[in-house]
Amino acid sequence: MQIDGTSALVTGGASGLGLATARRIVEHGGRVVIADISEEQGAKAVAELGSAATFVVADITDEAALAEALDAAEQLGPLRAVVHCAGRGGDRTRIIGKDRTPGALDTFTEVVRINLIGTYNVLRLSASRIAANEELDDGDRGAIVLTASVAAFDGQIGQTSYSASKAGVHGLTLVAARDLASWQIRVNTIAPGVMDTPMLGRLREDIRDGLAASVPHPKRLGQPADFARLAVDMLENPYLNGQTVRLDGAIRMAP
Ligand code: NAD
Repeated sequence: MQIDGTSALVTGGASGLGLATARRIVEHGGRVVIADISEEQGAKAVAELGSAATFVVADITDEAALAEALDAAEQLGPLRAVVHCAGRGGDRTRIIGKDRTPGALDTFTEVVRINLIGTYNVLRLSASRIAANEELDDGDRGAIVLTASVAAFDGQIGQTSYSASKAGVHGLTLVAARDLASWQIRVNTIAPGVMDTPMLGRLREDIRDGLAASVPHPKRLGQPADFARLAVDMLENPYLNGQTVRLDGAIRMAP
């Protein structure tokens, strides 16, 4: 499957990693629908990317809104590529003790609802559309890239809800790659380390420099373009399936 001439859906495509991926898909000759809850950022993104990009306001936890985004993607051509980046951070809380945040259970539920159940929605709704493209019977009907985090693996204290939600995305990847193989759909996931996007927040210069210095090699934060490059490679490589790949400069986030 080549991205050139393909129709793609990028969730969370109005900012950060998703925006860089939408940009790379367009640069490589694809057409893209950006699905995101941020109307302002979405409008800016399509203004930058031009006529190959369309924006649809869609919350990934809303199945009807996702169906509209998928309709829009199918209007651009047969849908073969999905990159799911929409997600949110968690809170920093201990599990018990005086440093447990009040309301931690509510936050845990919300983070899992968006990062894990939202991912499940994107996965199954987009897979059912790609599966229906029976005419694309070239052995590689479509590919889906999900976004986890190194938090899924590293067990950093305080990252309870976020780590649990992203570990769930890794689990979904393992099952989905084998389940969706019947329809020639591949599923892979990127687990980013510390990426330089709005989600990282505004950090003091010295904290930012310290984070960059803690990356073994290269000694810098991950850039959205690093993610976009791997996402498009994952979409196009016909033998890559069922993998969660750390994109982290070998950083380990524990304790
Ligand atoms: P970002 O804040 O720049 O972009 C996230 C986008 O997702 C935003 O445009 C936001 O409006 C959208 N979004 C949030 N909730 C949504 C929802 N319910 N429905 C639709 N859109 C929604 O952040 P980013 O760094 O580009 O994050 C992208 C993904 O990468 C997330 O899943 C995040 O957890 C993951 N990630 C980021 C980092 C990092 O260091 N930035 C590290 C590991 C994993």
